[in-house]
Amino acid sequence: MSKPSIVIVGRPNVGKSTLFNRLVGRRAAVVTDIPGTTRDRIALDAEWWGHRFIVVDTGGLEAAPTTPMYQQVVAQAMLAMETADAIIFVTDVHDGPTPADMDISHQLRRTGKPVVLAVNKTDNSTLEQETMEFYRLGLGDPIAISAHHNRGIDDLMDAVMATIPQEEEAENDVTGLLSLAIVGRTNVGKSALLNAILGEERVIVSETPGTTRDAIDTPTIYQDQKMLLIDTAGIRRPGRVEQGIETYSVLRTLRAVDRADVVFLVLDAADMVAAQDTHIAGHVIDAFKGLVIVVNKWDLATQLGLDEAGCLEEIRQRFKFLPYAPVRFTSALNKTGVAGALDAALMVYRDCSKEVSHHKLYSAVLDAMAENQPSSRKGRLLRLKGVAQEGVRPPTFVFYVNDASLAHFSYRRYLENRLRETLAFRWSHLKLVFKDAKE
Ligand code: GDP
Ligand code: GDP
Repeated sequence: MSKPSIVIVGRPNVGKSTLFNRLVGRRAAVVTDIPGTTRDRIALDAEWWGHRFIVVDTGGLEAAPTTPMYQQVVAQAMLAMETADAIIFVTDVHDGPTPADMDISHQLRRTGKPVVLAVNKTDNSTLEQETMEFYRLGLGDPIAISAHHNRGIDDLMDAVMATIPQEEEAENDVTGLLSLAIVGRTNVGKSALLNAILGEERVIVSETPGTTRDAIDTPTIYQDQKMLLIDTAGIRRPGRVEQGIETYSVLRTLRAVDRADVVFLVLDAADMVAAQDTHIAGHVIDAFKGLVIVVNKWDLATQLGLDEAGCLEEIRQRFKFLPYAPVRFTSALNKTGVAGALDAALMVYRDCSKEVSHHKLYSAVLDAMAENQPSSRKGRLLRLKGVAQEGVRPPTFVFYVNDASLAHFSYRRYLENRLRETLAFRWSHLKLVFKDAKE
């Protein structure tokens, strides 16, 4: 399998070359000749966490400052279309999404290639607020980076890698079966979605014997990943006592979640978030499962006056406690967006399955604790004796400390957020366990 190629595009001065240098960094091994490339683009081999790829800087295309912006944009898009497996679109947080950025977004969408939106020069967390603005570009979640200060690069590359086919060796950390539960309120389109998934991939449909009557499990294969779809819509029991049905369906949902690696929480575009959804999302978090929020019936969006940016904002507001869950828009009816939702499930699964080296973990924890020291309680301070990753799915980190009761909830949350950031667990909830270290 040839190495995937990643093309960096964006307006002049947003930091494309800086990002390019960051990616090739110390590993700038060989200068690669991509056929058809000219002198004004640089393509180099790069590697990120064992994934090898070619990265192409289009900075050179700006050679003639007299060239009108739209021509440059078109040229970049053309190049991206010819050569890219994935595109990194770089913007500048200080400028906000400019009209030129809008044009580029439009061009990039037309290429049909996966695009990851990077908001560069986000040098500190205060600036991170500003990145929300970039949802307006309609390219999904903006990723805050600082190419210059090396912030967010892991997040960015995680997102990029998730969009391109992986080489065999990159799959070593994910094996086995991905159990995917499709949950949501009645009538949101769970069954339709299941059918759309199965219709898209040629599959062996079979009802696994021995499963409970709570849900129907269907094996399938998507992008070489074996999956087990856990459908909670399969069984309805009309004619039973109403109250009983409701309780039963919630229980059934919770049990499906418990058996899953990743959960599709399906919402209805026409009737977004209800209390029950928040309740189920809460359970997904407590059970440390991967989550993708799927907004179905998106074919009705125009009629309903909805747009992706507005919807994303509403979801981020309502599900404040899970900023890491990717959101995807589908129409089970028209079979659109379904592959995108499945890609997101794979991306989340890989993230939850990731192991970090002990060295990386230890230094990340030390940095986090140095930056924001735990406050003392009754004159005693939380002290770290050791830390280890003791599991995946969920990524589980055990902190051996002098006295676990000194680890306050807010401090645990701080540590989780910091580790998610520095260890690039963009899409998953981390399980942090505090234990008293034996003397
Ligand atoms: P290009 O024209 O898109 O290739 O942009 P360059 O990589 O040449 O960067 C343009 C300017 O932005 C340079 O002065 C960089 O030092 C600066 N720059 C790049 N990345 C960052 C960043 O993350 N933060 C800040 N503050 N400046 C940056
Ligand atoms: P479930 O109860 O969650 O399994 O929902 P169903 O799959 O039975 O769908 C409920 C209703 O919504 C049916 O009438 C479907 O035809 C309709 N529906 C499902 N998906 C879509 C969609 O993407 N767009 C539209 N417009 N209708 C849909």
